[in-house]
Formats: sequence, structure tokens, C-alpha cells
Amino acid sequence: MKNFISNKKNLIICLMILIMIFMGTASASSIHKVEDYKNQIKLVRENLSNYTEESNDKIKELEKKLTNFERVKAKYEDDIAEKENKLQTLQAKLDSLEDQSIKIKELNNQVESLKSENVSLKDQNNNVANESSKTKEETSSNNSESSTTVHITNTGSKYHNAGCRYLSRSDIMVTFSEAKSRGLSPCSVCH
Ligand SMILES: [Zn+2]
Repeated sequence: MKNFISNKKNLIICLMILIMIFMGTASASSIHKVEDYKNQIKLVRENLSNYTEESNDKIKELEKKLTNFERVKAKYEDDIAEKENKLQTLQAKLDSLEDQSIKIKELNNQVESLKSENVSLKDQNNNVANESSKTKEETSSNNSESSTTVHITNTGSKYHNAGCRYLSRSDIMVTFSEAKSRGLSPCSVCH
């Protein structure tokens, strides 16, 4: 019985040794696998870091492009604002020119109406001058006629200058207008 136990002990020890050896190889293969995994992880990490660096580079490049683009955009916006200002200034100038043109037209109209007024005033002036000269002529002729004296007879239908032979019977001095008002006509001998 003791032998059996000691045999069994031996057997268990043998088994234990066997198990330990097996475990050792198993763990050795496990260690290899772990190494493999570690290497793979290392590779993945390297790839990942490479990829990340590339991505960062690309991101930096894109950010640069974006900055440039924003700069260009700002410049264009400035240009556009400047051009809009110029456009507004030009529009204002155009408006004031149109105002001036309207004023000039109004002034031209005023000048035209003043010219026509001037012409009609000149006409009126001429008329007045003509009328006044006519009146003067009439007045002077009237004056000369009324102040001139003629000679008439008692019965004759003519009026005479002094010394006419028809004045031998009667010789009456009257004004020319008096003779006219009597309906007398000039004598054909003395006139
Ligand atoms: Zn006479």
C-alpha cells in the first residue's frame, strides 16, 4: 500500500513534470504568439503614425489653401466694395449732371422767352416810335395847316394865295382849316 502510494506519488510527480513541460512548451508557443501580436501591433502603430503624419500634412496643406483662399476672398470683397463705392459716386455725379442739364434747359427756356419778349417789346417800341413820329407829323402838318392863312371870296368855292386875280371883288383872310371846313378847294390859278 505504501509502495502504491509512493508509486502513485511518483506517478503524480511524473504527471506533474509532464504537465509542466507541456505547459512550458504551451507558454513558449504563447510567448511566440504574443511576440507576433506585439510586432503586428507595432506595425499597425507605425502605419497609423505614418498615416496620421500624412493626414496632418494634408490638413496643414488644406488649412494653408483655406487661408490663401480667405485672403483672396477678402481682397475680392474689398475690390467689390471699392467698385460699389465708385459706382455710387458715379451715379451721384450722373444725377447731379442730369439736375444741371434740367436747370440748363430751364435757363434756355427762360432765355428763349426773354428773347421773344425782347422782340415783342422792340416791335412795340417801333410801333410807339412810328406812332409818335406820325403824331408829330400830323401835329406839325396840322400846325402848319392851322397857322397858314388863305384868301377866300364871298361867293367862290376856291381858296387863294394872296395877290390872286380872283380876289379883285372880295378878299377875306381865313385860316387854312377854316377854308377846309367850308368845303373850299384850292384855286387852280394861284396854287
Ligand atoms: Zn386864285
